[in-house]
Amino acid sequence: MTRFLNVIAVSAAVEAARKIAPPPQPETVPLDLASGRILAAPVRSDTDIPGFDRSVVDGYAVRAADTVGSSEAMPAMLRCVGRVAMGEVTVALRAGPGECAYVPTGGILPDSTDAVVMVENAEPAGDMILVKKVVSFGENVLRHDEDYRKGDVMLPAGRRLSPQDTGVLAAAGCGSVPVTRKPVVGIISTGNELVPFTKVPKKGQVRDANASMLAAYLQGYGCLPRQYGIVRDEKAAFESAIVKAVAECDVVLLSGGSSKDDRDMTAGTIAAKGEVLVHGIAIAPGKPTIIGRVFGKPVFGLPGHPASAYIVLIAIVCPLLDRMIGADRPQVRTVTATLDLNVPSQRGREDYVRVKVNDGIATPVFGKSGLLNTLVASDGVIRIPAGSEGLEKGSTVEVILW
Ligand code: AMP
Ligand code: MG
Repeated sequence: MTRFLNVIAVSAAVEAARKIAPPPQPETVPLDLASGRILAAPVRSDTDIPGFDRSVVDGYAVRAADTVGSSEAMPAMLRCVGRVAMGEVTVALRAGPGECAYVPTGGILPDSTDAVVMVENAEPAGDMILVKKVVSFGENVLRHDEDYRKGDVMLPAGRRLSPQDTGVLAAAGCGSVPVTRKPVVGIISTGNELVPFTKVPKKGQVRDANASMLAAYLQGYGCLPRQYGIVRDEKAAFESAIVKAVAECDVVLLSGGSSKDDRDMTAGTIAAKGEVLVHGIAIAPGKPTIIGRVFGKPVFGLPGHPASAYIVLIAIVCPLLDRMIGADRPQVRTVTATLDLNVPSQRGREDYVRVKVNDGIATPVFGKSGLLNTLVASDGVIRIPAGSEGLEKGSTVEVILW
């Protein structure tokens, strides 16, 4: 093996990762657990919604034609033939020409009426109602299929379900929702210097920050993270950890040991147990990244520096996860902002620069990828394309939020 990485463009790495994504698997969840999940199949309405012509105001159901020419000064006089009760079909009530019926908001419109005069524009006078304003056909009425028609696709496959979507699912009687299964993502931290966060590090040792950070991000991304602890930089330890994690997970992420030093075990182990597809990406931070496959499952070697691991997770791993969860668009969140400083960049690699965002202004947070504090001080990253030598102050940038 040569000592040098053979770097490829970020777009090519993303393509390579997406290509090995296992297809989304469907499962069903109860409606109350559906929010935030990705819909696996389109949901159609099993009925017209609302299902009957209904009033959207408190008022008098009329035939619009009977109100022509009415005004404050010259009200139309209609005979009130009854009141509509909520949730009931008032069969007997048929307001005919010259007649009206009281209908509350949400009440069914009596047959042969086609509009509703708001109570504010009507005045009872004995069993007559004085209508002081013209209403047009359909005014203040929601038609029986105006919201959804039976058979309509209410929500398409691939959509991340929002709280309001679950309201629509409830209206459609969809109590058991077809969603995609959450990918199980194994996380392995590697390095002789690492100790669990429960231990006090001796000189030369560092607490494992990556595993918890990656797990938390993945949890929020709709995955089931599973942590496999810390593995020492020894071939046998790497092999057994990878084999176990691959058997139990859909995707495996290792952090640390992803470069080409003699102590870096990730690439060699993936190659021994499967295949290395990519080793080296023209991305900063994060160049020594590995994409491979073991027993048919995607395995990533992320760099050890927390910022590098985090950025590679977002830039390279998330596009694969999007495909595995069947999302119709990237699930990373972005905002646009205006850059308030010049940001130089080295040509030939895609730079991910941490930024803080305030009132639409993105301020770069410069710092080495070994630092944790820059991750906390920033809200996300901006991408500077490989062909660019930098972004000028005042440019509009898209911030990928953490
Ligand atoms: P490596 O990629 O193994 O060469 O590690 C690069 C740097 O990241 C070293 O300073 C490691 O100690 C550090 N590092 C590796 N893994 C972790 C981790 N899980 N948590 C915090 N720092 C780490
Ligand atoms: Mg290491």
